[in-house]
Amino acid sequence: MATCYRCGVPNANYRRTTYTGYSSGTWWSKRSYGAGSRTYYGVRSVCQDCARTIDRGNTIRFIFKIAIGAIIAIFFFNHFSSSSRRDSSSKKAASYQYSGQTAKVASTKGLNLRDQPGSSGTVLLTVPYNETVGVIDKNGDSETIAGKTANWYKVDYKGTIGWLWSGYLQ
Ligand SMILES: [Zn+2]
Repeated sequence: MATCYRCGVPNANYRRTTYTGYSSGTWWSKRSYGAGSRTYYGVRSVCQDCARTIDRGNTIRFIFKIAIGAIIAIFFFNHFSSSSRRDSSSKKAASYQYSGQTAKVASTKGLNLRDQPGSSGTVLLTVPYNETVGVIDKNGDSETIAGKTANWYKVDYKGTIGWLWSGYLQ
């Protein structure tokens, strides 16, 4: 009667793949077994308790792999579906639904699109001369620049939403 490879008890009536040793050599020169980083597996006779322990470990590893696989699958699914949602034409079409109105930049230097309705707002980008923007809201704060008083308009320029001073819009 064989003894259990893992714990040494007699009555090792089960056959399982288990740790069989470590190599101190590298993968291209496996010279000896002993302490080392490389683990080897082989089929050995084991007792019922050890067979159960090995089976439980395999089940946990299996579930773990499935879970990791699912997380990776979800990550890629979200990545690709959100990148298709980022498509510029669909975003532009959606944001123009706020208002049917458009306006053109009348300043030959272009017009700064800001994150807030006021000249202290951060410049997101400069809309070039004669470019058309979609008007979302005309009721931004009023501001006087170079003697001219006009409202800030909330606009959409090619998918970027910000504020333009309407004194240079037509
Ligand atoms: Zn055992």
